[in-house]
Amino acid sequence: MVSSLGKGLTAASIGYLLECRGIKIAMLKLDPYLNVDPGTMNPFQHGEVYVTDDGAETDLDLGHYYRYTHSPLTRASNATSGQIYDTVIKKERKGEYLGKTVQVIPHVTDEIKARIEACSVQEPDTEVVLVEIGGTIGDIESLPFLEAIRQFRHARPADCMNIHLTYVPYLKAAGEVKTKPTQHSVQALREIGIIPDMIICRCEQSLNEELKEKISLFCNVRKEAVIDEKDVEHSIYEVPGMLHRQGLDLMICEMLHLEKGTSDLSRWEKMVHSVLHPKGKVVIGIVGKYMDHQDAYKSVFEALHHGAAAAGVELEIRKFESDRIVENGSVEQAIGGCEGYLVPGGFGSRGWEGKILTAHYCRTKNIPYFGLCLGMQVMLVEFARYALGLKEAHSTEVDPNTPDPVVSMLAEQKQLQNLGGTMRLGAYPCELKPGSLAEQAYGKKLIWERHRHRYEFNNAYKKAFEEKGMLFSGKLERGELCEISEVAGHPWMLGVQFHPEFKSKPLEPHPLFCDFIRTILLHRTKVQSSVNQACSKS
Ligand code: GLN
Repeated sequence: MVSSLGKGLTAASIGYLLECRGIKIAMLKLDPYLNVDPGTMNPFQHGEVYVTDDGAETDLDLGHYYRYTHSPLTRASNATSGQIYDTVIKKERKGEYLGKTVQVIPHVTDEIKARIEACSVQEPDTEVVLVEIGGTIGDIESLPFLEAIRQFRHARPADCMNIHLTYVPYLKAAGEVKTKPTQHSVQALREIGIIPDMIICRCEQSLNEELKEKISLFCNVRKEAVIDEKDVEHSIYEVPGMLHRQGLDLMICEMLHLEKGTSDLSRWEKMVHSVLHPKGKVVIGIVGKYMDHQDAYKSVFEALHHGAAAAGVELEIRKFESDRIVENGSVEQAIGGCEGYLVPGGFGSRGWEGKILTAHYCRTKNIPYFGLCLGMQVMLVEFARYALGLKEAHSTEVDPNTPDPVVSMLAEQKQLQNLGGTMRLGAYPCELKPGSLAEQAYGKKLIWERHRHRYEFNNAYKKAFEEKGMLFSGKLERGELCEISEVAGHPWMLGVQFHPEFKSKPLEPHPLFCDFIRTILLHRTKVQSSVNQACSKS
């Protein structure tokens, strides 16, 4: 009905609940925009770009799917209008529609349906495909998708159901909850031939029986199929339990004629319980360029939350715009007061110097620092400038003429003309150095992590860095690319050229995020006990 209602989170929660009943699912996000993928969009436009193992740059909702479910997540899990039209037009040029006029219906809608089928055969024994359609009802661009869904159901009436997520606002001035917008959006759906079987209502407070009855009557769904999804107070991981308690998964099984199985949410509920009952708190500062945008660093926020929950503490994130650090003049004043800092990925020159100041502050004050992708490149440039004395060192992404290009373009990137989908993308194997922080955190020697970058550490400087105490603790398996670096002798200053945040789940928190937070807590205890000792001596 409107954007930002939490369709992705709701779809992921439904996926999780079905999995709890032993049902094998696959998830698919259909995005009505014309970009082939979100990779070329600004985070202000689109939020985070989520990268899959097979190197697809996808919608951030796939991150929710990853965190909540075990759905396969690949190139086949996200389709945009851009991709669909691209396929149809290529087929037309090849002559596959010879003699016909190529039209939205049936050619574009057929291609959409083919994507749903393709998603379902990625893994054997998949029972349910959950298809989430981006955008809102009434958008011109989402019409072909809704039409494809209508046709899909027309062909398999017993195997499909439609769930509509709506907003049921509480109007303060009137002191009333309003169901009219829901009635209107259901009407709009009916006009295009889609009849929802279930309505999930996003609302501030649970809906009372009377309101549910009203929605049921006006929207033509069973009363039990009017589910409320009220704003959660503390954690988005409360959503599955909330939906389950209203019988949502059971009802889906009935409607789709699936074996119900017995549902076991106990591991999840235990995790939620520990999130809701933390013992203490940790304060982490994130220094980035898009801090005002809620979704630009979605997976980073989530992964930090997972790490904090694993340590049994609450997480407070303080957000800092890197530009403002430079304007302020004092790093301490601009960002001081956190127990650890994280610099996430990014592109372009804006914000670099503020991030360098952050890395310098952390290194010289022994404050834990975690650099992700660009955050590692920043850490290396800072080290070159201040530990090696190469005052003008830089990444060639920002300064192509720097005399000391300690971060430079990957060789394979140099000949590329197109910018879309051409970075070093997807999962690569990385060997860890025995005894390093990284190896201890992962507890293994070979890891696979996902990448999305064009620049890398320049190995010509490796020896000079090592001599000054930089440990290159992870390198591409059977290759030389430096994937992880650590500052020796520092409590925890570690940078990774990949994006570990994409592989953290609440039930399987990522080892590096756990270790970062664990070290902060340990560091805190050490500092505290040395303060206590000093006090007792004096
Ligand atoms: N801009 C840097 C590069 O392309 C870092 C990319 C990132 O942080 N994802 O290498």
